[in-house]
Amino acid sequence: MSTLSPEKTREIVAPRNMITIDDTTGRAATGGREVKVRVKADPAIDVVASIITTPGASCAQTAADLAAALRAQLPAAIKVKDSANPPIIGAATGSADVLVGDPLTQNVRVTVETSDDPTQNVLVTLHEVGHALYSQGHPTDLARTLAHASPSLGAEESQARFYENHVGRELALWEFLTPTLRRRFGAAMDGIDGAALHRSVSQVTRGWCRVDADELTYDLHIALRFSLELALIRGTLDVVDLPDAWNDGMERLLGVRPDGNRQGCMQDIHWAWGSFGYFPTYTLGNIYAAQIREALEADLGPIPSLIQSERLSDITAYLHERIHSHGSILSTGELMLQATGQAFSVEPFLRRAQRLAAGAR
Ligand SMILES: [Zn+2]
Repeated sequence: MSTLSPEKTREIVAPRNMITIDDTTGRAATGGREVKVRVKADPAIDVVASIITTPGASCAQTAADLAAALRAQLPAAIKVKDSANPPIIGAATGSADVLVGDPLTQNVRVTVETSDDPTQNVLVTLHEVGHALYSQGHPTDLARTLAHASPSLGAEESQARFYENHVGRELALWEFLTPTLRRRFGAAMDGIDGAALHRSVSQVTRGWCRVDADELTYDLHIALRFSLELALIRGTLDVVDLPDAWNDGMERLLGVRPDGNRQGCMQDIHWAWGSFGYFPTYTLGNIYAAQIREALEADLGPIPSLIQSERLSDITAYLHERIHSHGSILSTGELMLQATGQAFSVEPFLRRAQRLAAGAR
C-alpha cells in the first residue's frame, strides 16, 4: 500500500510509563518528569472512529477524540482534564495501548502509533478499540473490585483480535471504507478499490515479522516463541543458543531465515521486559474469537452482511452482552460456554484457518 500517502501531521511522543497530561500547559509528565511520546497522525484513524458506532458508549467519541488530537498540535490537544472527562492516569506500555480512567465513568482511551500504511493503521486501531470496548463494558457495579476485569489475558485478547480479524479483514469492511478513504486520500486512491484494500490485509505471506504477519501465519510465530520459552524455562535450551534455535524454527515453520537477530529473536519487546508466557495469549485470543464468531453468526447472521447493512453496533452489543458485561465473575472456560453455548473448542479456529489457507474468504 505504498502508493497511499497519508498526511502525517505530527509526531507525538509515546508514554512508556505512568503519565498525566496537563492540558493547561500541554506537558506530559510522570512524577514531575517530562516524557516523550511518539505517534504519527493518519486520517485512517478517523475512518475507524466513524465506523465504530456504539449507541450509548463513549468509545466512538474516544476514537474521534484521538483522531482530533492526532491532527492537532500535541500533547496540548489531548483533553484529559476537561470537565466532561475526568483525568486519566494510565500506563501506555506499547506502541498501541488502552488507557483506562475512572471505571464509573467508563473513560477509556486508546493510543496508536501509526505507520505509513493506512490499512495497517485501521487494523491496529480496531485491535485497540476491541480492548477498549472490553474495558469499557465491565459491569460498573463491580467497579474497584477484582472482578472488574477480564478473566484472562486470552479472553482480553479475544476481543481485540475479534475486531482486528473478524471485522477488520472482511471484504465488506474495506468496501464500506473505500469511499471514505477516497475522500481522505484523494488521487492516491485512484485505481484502488475495496477488493484491492482487502487483498492487502488478507494476503498470506512468509515473513520474519510477527507484528506484520497475516492472520493465517500469525499463530506460527506464536508457536515458535512458546516452544522456545518452554525450552528456556525447562533448561533444555541455553540463552546463548537462542538465536540459532529461533532461526532454525522460523525456517521449519515459515520457510524463512531471518537476517540477523534484529529480525530474529530480538524483534519483540516481551522477553526483554520479562513477559515470558505472554505470547500464547494472542493465539488463545484467536481461538476464542473464532468460536465467538460462529456463535454470533448463528444468532445475528454473517458478519459481512452485518457490515454491509451498517450493523457493526449490533456486533458490539452482542459482545457486550455475552462477554464484556461479565467481568471476571466467570472463568474463561465458563464464559466461553455461556457465551457460545459450546465448551471451549479449537475446531472453529481450525475451520477458519482451513478457509484462509484455501483462500476462501
Ligand atoms: Zn492486544
